[in-house]
Amino acid sequence: MDKRFFLKLISAMMATPYIAPLLAWAAGEKLKNWAGNIEYGTDRLYSADTVAQVQEFVKKQPRLKVLGTHHCFNHIADTTDIFLSVRPMDKVIALDPQARTVTLGAGMSYGQLAPYLHEHGFALQNLASLPHISVAGACSTATHGSGEKNGNLSTAVSALELVTASGEVVNISRKQDGDTFLGAVVGLGALGAITKVTLDLQPTFMMKQYVYENLPLDQMKEHFDAIEASAYSVSLFTDWQNQRINEVWIKSRVEPAVAFNATPELFGAKLATKNLHPIAELSAENCTEQMGVPGPWYDRLPHFRMGFTPSAGKELQSEYFVPRKHAVEAILAVERLRDQVSPHLLISEIRTIAADDFWMSPCHKQDSVTIHFTWKPDWPSVSKVLPVIEKELAPFQARPHWGKLFTVSPERLRALYEKMPDFIALAKKYDPQGKFRNDFLNTNIFGG
Ligand SMILES: Cc1cc2nc3c(=O)[nH]c(=O)nc-3n(C[C@H](O)[C@H](O)[C@H](O)COP(=O)(O)OP(=O)(O)OC[C@H]3O[C@@H](n4cnc5c(N)ncnc54)[C@H](O)[C@@H]3O)c2cc1C
Repeated sequence: MDKRFFLKLISAMMATPYIAPLLAWAAGEKLKNWAGNIEYGTDRLYSADTVAQVQEFVKKQPRLKVLGTHHCFNHIADTTDIFLSVRPMDKVIALDPQARTVTLGAGMSYGQLAPYLHEHGFALQNLASLPHISVAGACSTATHGSGEKNGNLSTAVSALELVTASGEVVNISRKQDGDTFLGAVVGLGALGAITKVTLDLQPTFMMKQYVYENLPLDQMKEHFDAIEASAYSVSLFTDWQNQRINEVWIKSRVEPAVAFNATPELFGAKLATKNLHPIAELSAENCTEQMGVPGPWYDRLPHFRMGFTPSAGKELQSEYFVPRKHAVEAILAVERLRDQVSPHLLISEIRTIAADDFWMSPCHKQDSVTIHFTWKPDWPSVSKVLPVIEKELAPFQARPHWGKLFTVSPERLRALYEKMPDFIALAKKYDPQGKFRNDFLNTNIFGG
């Protein structure tokens, strides 16, 4: 389906005062994910704009999936039954300056939320590479940005409101719900329909972004820790060619005590003299401002600007989380695969993320480095190279991103997540009949 058509329908939904079926797909049009690589198993998409509507809908359906902003590259959000969208629930419900929290409708995207927070003097700790994704969908899959002291985006969640399979509304908070909270936040869409999310805030801050070109691989190897520690958020982009990291993106807070000192060279890499796209040949028009121009946090933390097509557009993505202590070894292991990887690759990105306690988070109890692949849209080729990468990264206990493409077996996933049995029990508590399950969850989590 044409992305503009999807967005038009989404806007139409927002004006509708009752549970609205969206049966208006043009003949031959299929409902797809953002990248267009997944044609969903049904076109039956309904929308709700109140919690009561969500309750009524959930009660009636024997099986359903809640769809966010449909940015996952795999079948985690898919269903052959029926979709519910809570995208019309996209308003801030409460801003609590004392507690430093914001509560929002689960349909809201970071792009909608962030400017509001900034105007009111607040910021989130971090953002992903793009602002277009829904808060609920992103947190459900442990979506992350970069920065060795920053947890993934779900670590900002302090409470959730969930409509469970029976239609009951359940509130789960960090303060009151201990283990249930740790199991529910990265919930993979398996526990119910999230209708509200409460996020921790901090005072708003300004940032500057700098890009360096051509970091020699040897320098990365010798100075990885220093490079990652040099700023609030650091991303390394490489095509694995010519023994180099093509671009180092440095996102620095402007406060004097922590500001990055933008010298002309960084471990042999040269400060760029114009804005760059992560794929240097592409126009930087859709990228956030660089060259040290100060701007609000939400306009520097993502790589891609709201209102533009993020990333390269036609692409597939995969990503693996490796314990931070194995970062350099793991990066060099992938680099050795360059001849197999590069023909299918648009660009790779390496980021760091702080450990968290969420049961199904790939950063559970471990500081992590992520090795990401933006692929050309050629699944037959990508599906052949993924097992090769996964084999190479297996000694490091690499965990795949829940929202991206992988071929890791369900048995292996079970071995990688010690809390998976507890997560299954929690999901069964809220959804005993598997109303919110789909093939992806049945295969990868619930065991067929
Ligand atoms: C161009 C691009 C760039 C990306 N960059 C990054 C990045 O920088 N870092 C990163 O980690 N990931 C990144 N991703 C992946 C993306 O962040 C995740 O796939 C994220 O889950 C997308 O959120 P969504 O709302 O679109 O999810 P969807 O695909 O719509 O849904 C994802 C899951 O969340 C569930 N869900 C959604 N809303 C609800 C709800 N209200 N209640 C219950 N369950 C719900 C769905 O059922 C499904 O299981 C990127 C993706 C794209 C396309």
